[in-house]
Amino acid sequence: MTAASLICFIVASVAAGIVTTSSWTYQDQKHWSPQCQEGRLQSPVALSLGVAKEKEFHHFRLSGYGRVVPAVLKNNGHSAEVRLNISQNERPEISGGGLSGIYQLDHLHFHWQSEHVMEDYRFPLELHLVHYAKDTGSLANAINLPGGVAVFAVMFELSPDDDEEFEPLLTIIEKLQTSVGTPMALQHLVVKHFLPRDLAGFYRYEGSLTTPDCNEGILWTIFTNTIPISANQVKIFEEMQTDHHEVLRKNYRSLQPLNGREVSVKISPIRSSAKTTAASSVLLLTIIILTFSNV
Ligand SMILES: [Zn+2]
Repeated sequence: MTAASLICFIVASVAAGIVTTSSWTYQDQKHWSPQCQEGRLQSPVALSLGVAKEKEFHHFRLSGYGRVVPAVLKNNGHSAEVRLNISQNERPEISGGGLSGIYQLDHLHFHWQSEHVMEDYRFPLELHLVHYAKDTGSLANAINLPGGVAVFAVMFELSPDDDEEFEPLLTIIEKLQTSVGTPMALQHLVVKHFLPRDLAGFYRYEGSLTTPDCNEGILWTIFTNTIPISANQVKIFEEMQTDHHEVLRKNYRSLQPLNGREVSVKISPIRSSAKTTAASSVLLLTIIILTFSNV
């Protein structure tokens, strides 16, 4: 192949969306790039009320998350990725919640099972909403700046019923299972449907990207309230394939040590997770029994 035809091949491959993945795999985490092995502020981590310090944060201010926007979905060989098909100045923005300044949404992607664990519990699905500091202009500019990137993580909990808001997205993800790199359009996406209704409770710590090159200085916000999803819906993610046509059964990075890092938690007055509800029911029952046994 001559140099000119090689360039033509590369250009054609990029245009066709073929050269979109790098060579790392989830089975090969021990050989990820040096920062992933040597970094001291890596993600994900195990979260619990035991390790976190309670802290007051201002409320988040969200703008543009409730708008109906067109999006483009892709199987990038490591995850299902969702990008909003809108101009930069229309992108949803967050501020408050202990963030310094305004952050714009770059994209969303999913991990099955969850990367972060809470109280030793690994959820079936974790959504990452990746934001960059607005004044940096792009994720590429922000990625190496401390606090340049802020990721929101949303946990999904198994429910007997399908989540209807999820269906249009899942219909497309199902079509992308064996098709790495090919973008498909979704006409109507409301990002807010993929956030818990109550954003008041969350963990906050400084960590890294959870994929190579594991860049540090990332501000993590992991909401304590969850979104329901059915086992059948999770299965659609679990049947995604890599660019080598292997089933991507799990795409989470193993837990990383805290190395003395501070983890903060803001406790929401509304706790909706099934585990908390179950714990409250037991507590209520105990109070009732004690009350009656004293009569
Ligand atoms: Zn992620």
